[in-house]
Amino acid sequence: MEHMHNEGIVEKEKKLYDLHEKLVRDTSLPLYSYRTENSFLPVFGEGSIDANIVIIGEAPGKKEALTGRPFCGASGKFLDELCAHVGLRRSDVYVTNIVKDRPQDNRDPNNEEIKMYGHYLDAQLQVIQPNVIATLGRFSAEYILKKISQENVTFKISELHGKILHGKLGYGDVVLVPLYHPAVALYNGSMRAVLKKDFETLKEFI
Ligand code: URA
Repeated sequence: MEHMHNEGIVEKEKKLYDLHEKLVRDTSLPLYSYRTENSFLPVFGEGSIDANIVIIGEAPGKKEALTGRPFCGASGKFLDELCAHVGLRRSDVYVTNIVKDRPQDNRDPNNEEIKMYGHYLDAQLQVIQPNVIATLGRFSAEYILKKISQENVTFKISELHGKILHGKLGYGDVVLVPLYHPAVALYNGSMRAVLKKDFETLKEFI
């Protein structure tokens, strides 16, 4: 096995660039034709590729699919607020999603999509190598929790939100902080305070 060492930023940039190119052309992806029929863009991710914290959402919404940028719509606006609340700029972290294409009518992603697009997320994490992974919503939390824990943990976001969970990925030890998806606060105003408080968990890793 190749010995992992701290890669240079140029090396990381090149690996992510190549991965992005592969995502653009990957016709085997379940939402590829829906993407191209609607002139949508895949949403790869953006931010600091040397970040200690990677934030993982669910799947792009319409605005994201039209621009190719993660969390640039209504949920993104609240995500910006949450980051600012703990003194983080979006450019201090790397923000991506588990599913890189918009599902039809914003439906939940299915298992096949999570599996297929998950390979891209795995590769991104392997390049960026964050110590902290903050997931937004149950799909990305479940995905990462399965990866970092040896056991088959049953997952309830209502019990685990804002907690610090320890585990391992291919490159080393990681901390998972499962958070509610910011979209829940758009339907339910009382969740704003819960999300703000949970985000404070990230403070110790900044
Ligand atoms: N919701 C997500 O999960 N991801 C985005 O990029 C936008 C909205």
